Amino acid sequence: MIATVRRVLAKEKINFDDYLLLLSDAASEILEELAIKSHELTKKFFGKTIRIYAPLYLCNECDNNCSYCGFSQKLPEKRICLSEDEVLEEAQIIYQKGFRHILLVSGEKRDKVSLPYLKNIIAKLHEKFESISLEIFPLSEDEYRELFSAGADGVTLYQEVYDPEIYKQVHLSGPKADYAFRLQAPERAGRAGFYRINVGTLLGLGEWQKEAASLGKHVAYLKKTFWQAEIAVSFPRLKSSAAHFKPPHPVSDRQLVQMLCALRIFQPSLGLVLSTRESQGLRDNLIPLGITQMSAESKTSPGGYGKKIYAEEQFEVADQRSVAEVAAAIAHKNYEPVFKDWDKQFIC
Ligand code: SF4
Repeated sequence: MIATVRRVLAKEKINFDDYLLLLSDAASEILEELAIKSHELTKKFFGKTIRIYAPLYLCNECDNNCSYCGFSQKLPEKRICLSEDEVLEEAQIIYQKGFRHILLVSGEKRDKVSLPYLKNIIAKLHEKFESISLEIFPLSEDEYRELFSAGADGVTLYQEVYDPEIYKQVHLSGPKADYAFRLQAPERAGRAGFYRINVGTLLGLGEWQKEAASLGKHVAYLKKTFWQAEIAVSFPRLKSSAAHFKPPHPVSDRQLVQMLCALRIFQPSLGLVLSTRESQGLRDNLIPLGITQMSAESKTSPGGYGKKIYAEEQFEVADQRSVAEVAAAIAHKNYEPVFKDWDKQFIC
């Protein structure tokens, strides 16, 4: 079996069945060989650059009950939705730190995080930020089109778990219980013009190899359908939160590395994103293996940057370094931290 995995590694281009082999237990025995191939492909397709971004939390109110999340509706945590002015104040702090790529994050609270609210914010941020991505609830194609016209260019939407049975068990109530509407959202965004599409599975909910297989299939489909867009994958591992949820299938560092390398080898031009959920040591070590984007100095509660408002954070941030420290760590690995997004000129 290891010989078969090595034959896959020797190929110029691999297919989906080969990808499944890279996720196998046999492949884990030669993980270092996967890592070498992953490193080489990343260097070839992306050079030695890491794009840096910051999340801005708009609202931690939510109409969903996801059993793993600290923003879950049933929890008695302190809730807040920022006003447009408060969002702009937070954005200004992020801008002053040097970020030009911002990710707007929100729970599903459509009456407060409404389309006009989002459009106003995006239009104002568009004057300053090179790239605005949205990590909010799934929208209709027309809604995505409106936000794209306002100036947003990226959508991040994790399916959370591809296994439909587990999906049902952990999404107890609220609009998010609609599995298909969520699964098809990245496509609706792509059809509406968004050219940065980021998907993922919440690591710890399902068995990692099965989830990685479904994620690989999803990504391959998106890349084929939206070949001009930048498709990326994040690796959000479940962290402790106010929900006190115990992941049924915890994913080890080694398994995370195997998944990352397998995805890189399967889809060499895929963006790979790592947030501050992961520790400083792991993040630094993963830089040469295939990561292309990283968040830094993240606050995961609305108002977290200005600290004038206290609200519950969505998850604990493990890497607490400042953006300057993260940039220095990237440079120390002989990679270049990128704040200004040049891709836009080439993608449009
Ligand atoms: S995971 Fe998202 S949708 Fe679910 S409770 Fe948390 S914020 Fe709401």
